[in-house]
Amino acid sequence: MVKMANKTKKILLETSDVIIENKEYLTELDAAIGDGDHGINLARGFKKLKEKLENETFTERNELFKLTAMTLISNVGGASGPLYGTAFLNISKVISDERLDLDDLVEIAEEAIAGIQKRGKAEAGEKTMLDTIIPAAESLKQSRDNNLDLETALNNCLETAAEGMKNTIEMQATKGRASYLGERSIGHQDPGATSAYLMIKTFITSYL
Ligand code: ADP
Ligand code: MG
Repeated sequence: MVKMANKTKKILLETSDVIIENKEYLTELDAAIGDGDHGINLARGFKKLKEKLENETFTERNELFKLTAMTLISNVGGASGPLYGTAFLNISKVISDERLDLDDLVEIAEEAIAGIQKRGKAEAGEKTMLDTIIPAAESLKQSRDNNLDLETALNNCLETAAEGMKNTIEMQATKGRASYLGERSIGHQDPGATSAYLMIKTFITSYL
């Protein structure tokens, strides 16, 4: 459905802009506990995505997520490129063009997590992007089980994602490059948890 595809395209363009605007910030976070390229990596991928989005027309929502996945996988590099790429690829497999209710959002979030975990083998609490995404998905599930309306559910999800991101400050990294620092990784917010929050925030605020 072209209408849905156009709305999704707009959200993905906004997400690209937000990531590009936060290039320096994400890179600074990565300089503290990694190799200082997270913002550079993601901004490169999302800049490429913007070009492709602007130059093509789409009729279905899943095509857009597939393009996002492929573009991130081939242009981001680092650990985060294939991880985000797989998440978007999994989303493209389940997202329907017909509707996007709370049940669908729960399924999408679970699929994204499954993709990231299949590749990266991390669990909650290891100071990664999953520490934003897993609590956000749990929040959506809880809202669905309590029959909350979509707007309340999305607001709760955003708040939970922000808490998840901030909770990474106190965590010790046990996956990815930051794990080489051992205890010295404590006291810094994880760059991937931060980029995941920025993406979730843009999806939610554009959706509301
Ligand atoms: P690299 O570490 O290769 O330089 P980036 O700097 O682009 O890659 O991304 C680092 C981020 O990737 C980390 O902050 C973390 O959130 C995420 N990450 C690293 N390893 C994993 C993993 N195994 N599972 C989930 N996320 C991970
Ligand atoms: Mg890095």
